Amino acid sequence: MTSPGELERTLRENLRGEVDFGAAARALATMDASNYRRVPVGVARPRDADDVAAALRICAEAGVPVVPRGGGTSIAGQATGVGVVLDLTRHMNALVSLDPAARTAVVQPGLVLDRLRGAARPHGLTFGPDPSMHSRCTLGGMIGNNACGAHSVAWGTTADNVAELAVTAYGGASYRLGTGWAGAPAGLRELVSRNLAVLRTGMAGGFSRRISGYGGLDALLPERGVEVARAFCGSEGTLGVVTEAVVRLVEAPRAPALAVLGYADESAAADAAAALLGFGPLTVEGMAADLVGSAAGLPRGGGWLFVEMRDEGAARSLVRAADAVDSVVVTDPAGQRALWRIREDAAGTATRMPGGGMAWPGWEDCAVPPARLGAYLREFRALLAQHGLRGTPYGTSARAASTYGSTSTWCRRRGSPASAPSPPTWRTWWSPTAAPSPGSTGTGRRGRSSCRGCTGRRSSGSSARTRTCGTRRAG
Ligand SMILES: Cc1cc2nc3c(=O)[nH]c(=O)nc-3n(C[C@H](O)[C@H](O)[C@H](O)COP(=O)(O)OP(=O)(O)OC[C@H]3O[C@@H](n4cnc5c(N)ncnc54)[C@H](O)[C@@H]3O)c2cc1C
Repeated sequence: MTSPGELERTLRENLRGEVDFGAAARALATMDASNYRRVPVGVARPRDADDVAAALRICAEAGVPVVPRGGGTSIAGQATGVGVVLDLTRHMNALVSLDPAARTAVVQPGLVLDRLRGAARPHGLTFGPDPSMHSRCTLGGMIGNNACGAHSVAWGTTADNVAELAVTAYGGASYRLGTGWAGAPAGLRELVSRNLAVLRTGMAGGFSRRISGYGGLDALLPERGVEVARAFCGSEGTLGVVTEAVVRLVEAPRAPALAVLGYADESAAADAAAALLGFGPLTVEGMAADLVGSAAGLPRGGGWLFVEMRDEGAARSLVRAADAVDSVVVTDPAGQRALWRIREDAAGTATRMPGGGMAWPGWEDCAVPPARLGAYLREFRALLAQHGLRGTPYGTSARAASTYGSTSTWCRRRGSPASAPSPPTWRTWWSPTAAPSPGSTGTGRRGRSSCRGCTGRRSSGSSARTRTCGTRRAG
């Protein structure tokens, strides 16, 4: 059994980047944006892929799990663990190259999304997936979580936008994953051939919102084109550490327009959302009254859908067709940004109850077929009331034929039929107190659903050594 001191020494001797097993570094890596806290044994900041390989080899020899970490904005504990945290943001954060003609970019894992988007913007391009944490989250973390975001309605999840991945596995072996078996681990092809039936029938067929965890494994099937890089996305660092990625860029609309549709309440808005997918929206985000409060610029209503369209004409056609109580079309970029801020600030806003009391994220990213979302929300509100709890649901998602379920956006994968069952997600922050009064601060009661497909939490230092991280959810 290697002691933390020995492990630290060995890592220091073999890595060019910093190795820090001190209390401050460990404390900073103890949490991500979730409720969970786990204290790592130490933190290493690799300078390059060789450092990553050395760390994974040394930790494997010591039997210590490894947690790759980007911005640490995960909301379910994914970026925390009890082993060695590899902080990829310090040194491995470069945009290696951008090819506007090929619409691709080569990125290091610690590159923050907004830096990539900023570099792509002058070419009229962008990276499609856009989690609300776009100013903090990294490409490595987005690949780890198969991140989504409001615009994944139009452009899909991170898995849809990744072409190639350079990956190093626990133990230090490196691979180049793309389409086809070339570059992939030798045993993978055989694993797939031995499990064809399971992959064809056991992947929640018909349920498209399979995102984090191994929900994309059926991309390895021959009839799916053996998309190994796609299958890796969402594996939350458990299959290996991405050291470089080739990602695809998409054409950004020149003058998008935001149609804000007001409905009687959040359930009515949710009821209406599925039908809007046929209009080719770029986003369909739901927002409830208790989240937006008295925000300026909203049309009348008690629940809203934020539907971004490619241009003003498309937005006005949508408004004419939508059966909304009231509506507004916002064309100026500043006005749109102000409205989107409501959604982006939602997670923070929702941790305070209107009276100032604390609330905890407790029921996140539930995947529900869009046609049933309105009913789901009505029943969910009733369930909260039954338990004396209050919540602030926001950010519905409608996503047809997608593979991801970790965000709060309505999204439909490009090219998929609008009528396909589309599992939306809905986050709720609930107050921990029964019958809360304004200003109350309850103690401790918090919960988390497993509605993202979570199967529970793994124990750290798993014996399956394909895994590189400590405990985390298995969704
Ligand atoms: C307010 C708020 C709003 C959010 N909104 C959205 C949203 O709209 N859509 C959405 O999808 N998510 C959303 N998220 C979740 C999160 O921001 C995203 O999933 C984001 O992409 C995570 O990136 P990160 O760099 O912070 O990754 P981290 O949290 O650091 O890591 C994410 C996972 O990837 C793994 N990982 C990190 N780097 C690597 C690597 N190099 N190789 C392999 N695995 C790696 C980690 O171990 C971890 O399992 C939101 C979070 C918050 C707090």
